[in-house]
Amino acid sequence: MHSRKSEIFVDLKAYRENIRHFTDILYPTKVLPVIKANAFGHGAVEIAKAAEEEFVDFFAVAYLEEGIELRDAGISAKILMLNYCSPEYFQKAADYSLTATLHSFDQIESINQRKGKLPKFHMKINTGMNRLGFNPDEASDAFRMAEESEMHITGIYSHLATADEEDPSFFNQQYERFENLVAGLQKQGFDTGIVHLCNSAASIRFPGRCFDYSRIGISSFGVQPSHFFKDPRLRQVLTFKSCISQVRCLEPGDSLSYGRTFFAEENMKVAVVPVGYADGFDRRLSNKGSVLIGGIPCRVIGRVCMDHFIADISKVDPTPKEGDEVVLIGNQGKESISVEQVAEWRETTNSEITSCISYRVPRKYSRDAY
Ligand SMILES: *Cc1c(COP(=O)(O)O)cnc(C)c1O
Repeated sequence: MHSRKSEIFVDLKAYRENIRHFTDILYPTKVLPVIKANAFGHGAVEIAKAAEEEFVDFFAVAYLEEGIELRDAGISAKILMLNYCSPEYFQKAADYSLTATLHSFDQIESINQRKGKLPKFHMKINTGMNRLGFNPDEASDAFRMAEESEMHITGIYSHLATADEEDPSFFNQQYERFENLVAGLQKQGFDTGIVHLCNSAASIRFPGRCFDYSRIGISSFGVQPSHFFKDPRLRQVLTFKSCISQVRCLEPGDSLSYGRTFFAEENMKVAVVPVGYADGFDRRLSNKGSVLIGGIPCRVIGRVCMDHFIADISKVDPTPKEGDEVVLIGNQGKESISVEQVAEWRETTNSEITSCISYRVPRKYSRDAY
């Protein structure tokens, strides 16, 4: 249903072009699309189906439930769960042919204490992020203990802390730690399986240093991974649109919305838009940033509410009316608002912008022939 004419439009053709682009620049490294958090807000099932058409054979999600959603939708490629899965659910992961992440000795211990089917595992190594993972000096013990517990390790990976930053020195440190560790394990006779390290930023910047697979998240959606280096061939996949729910006129001295944080200094026209922070239009955009109406950027004024915000349309000619299109992210006429631009207004990452557009906003998909 479409009662408030607010929707996300997902350009699957653009997504497939981005996947093809990464497939080309990374070859012989393969693309492992990261489609956690509902594919960064784009819709995991539709995105996975589009990626499979580009011959992707491996996906990553964060959690078990996300993997099950993909399997239930008929996705047959391998799926790695990057994040925590309570050991009592390993059997379920195995039932759905999902690959789990092995990151601690406690996991091995709890596996030893219960019988039941086990999924395949990729071993996660901590090379400096200090989030999940075995430290490099623990890895061979972990491998040995996992083998003794009849666990099947089919891959090994680590995660980068600074790949988007200008200074590559910590990337280099992590890269070297990881490369040396993997070589050392192989020398000891362990089968490390599939090796992967790089995210979007590292894959664009260092395409020759990506091992077997690259875990591409944000940039598969056509969004730049860094302020410092950009790939101009990426195409933004997402458009966020709504419409005007009411037009009104303000006189000098009139205030607007909760808390009266905005006062009109002259006669002005404003448009109410039926999108608010419960949709993922963050309250920190109050009196900040713009949307496109009538082909021009219009300032967001006053506090963003749960289900509404208000924009200044004084300069739009002719005056827009109820039902007219409002573009929050994407193109309108000659103007465009990128995900990167909204992230700058909100002082956060590009990934937070797309992944926090809530489930209340319907997603629509283009399935243009390609
Ligand atoms: C989210 C995530 C990625 C994807 O990172 P991008 O910067 O979005 O490409 C890769 N690896 C891990 C472990 C992640 O959690």
